[in-house]
Amino acid sequence: MNCLLCTIQGQPTAAVAVCNRCGAAVCPEHCQAVYTPGGPAGHPGHHRPRRVYCTECAGAGDGADEQE
Ligand SMILES: [Zn+2]
Ligand SMILES: [Zn+2]
Repeated sequence: MNCLLCTIQGQPTAAVAVCNRCGAAVCPEHCQAVYTPGGPAGHPGHHRPRRVYCTECAGAGDGADEQE
């Protein structure tokens, strides 16, 4: 799978993640990981909740929409 944004720009690049909002595959350059503060109780520090967004979704609004 190739990065959607790179493909649009005419330079297909291998994708490493999928945007949590729009579902687009993104390369390291076009993805932005958002760590949710807090996380589930009882699991401190072990596994921080993380969501990955493409740069377009990360730049739109607050970037981290917690509402499914
Ligand atoms: Zn890209
Ligand atoms: Zn997106």
